Amino acid sequence: MTSLIAKRITKIRSSLPAKVRPIAVTKKVSVAAMREAYAAGIRDFGENRIQEALPKQEQLQDLPDICWHFIGHLQSNKAKKALEQFQWIHTCDSLKLAQRLNRLAADLPSPPQVCLQVKILPDPDKYGWSVPELRADLSALDQCKRLKIKGLMTILPLGLTDEETLTAFQEVRSLATKINQQNWSNLQMQELSMGMSADYHFAVQAGATMVRLGRIIFGEIE
Ligand SMILES: *Cc1c(COP(=O)(O)O)cnc(C)c1O
Repeated sequence: MTSLIAKRITKIRSSLPAKVRPIAVTKKVSVAAMREAYAAGIRDFGENRIQEALPKQEQLQDLPDICWHFIGHLQSNKAKKALEQFQWIHTCDSLKLAQRLNRLAADLPSPPQVCLQVKILPDPDKYGWSVPELRADLSALDQCKRLKIKGLMTILPLGLTDEETLTAFQEVRSLATKINQQNWSNLQMQELSMGMSADYHFAVQAGATMVRLGRIIFGEIE
């Protein structure tokens, strides 16, 4: 019998271009449901809290080809754990955090893959760089040589129209293109982590390479 989760995953994947990586966001999702997603072909899992992720990672150790993505706000005292337990950090949201990750990465076997979180529209409730702040920090970020800085990540403010949503995602993409044209030695913005259950169609249309999907895979939780 095909599970509901498996059916949803199959449907989503058939609608995604091959170059778009679906990341199953599993905050508050049980390990059993994560196993169903894995059985349906998901290998990328996203968690937003270190304390919640660690026990799940331990229980899923028999699935060694999972790629773990950290997608929450990373407090500096958790940075080391995040680097040890996750292959990707989508939410590097300040120069200070980037520099801390860079220092800690000296002790790792392989360099962490990082996205820079940008607020493409002003949003007091969110972490991340505004566009002018990010531009000002690029040169210092380029010096974080132990990090593989691979792209931009964004979460849009609530309440946008469809058109505003698409435009905002397109602006993230064009920001990435502009940064790439500056030929930094360590900043290569080929990844765009954008789009969640409600807006991923627009993100894909705008060029997302990673979409972070929770509710549309696992249903409403709570
Ligand atoms: C929860 C979460 C998601 C997934 O949201 P859904 O609406 O459930 O798809 C994506 N990105 C981040 C950063 C999240 O915290």
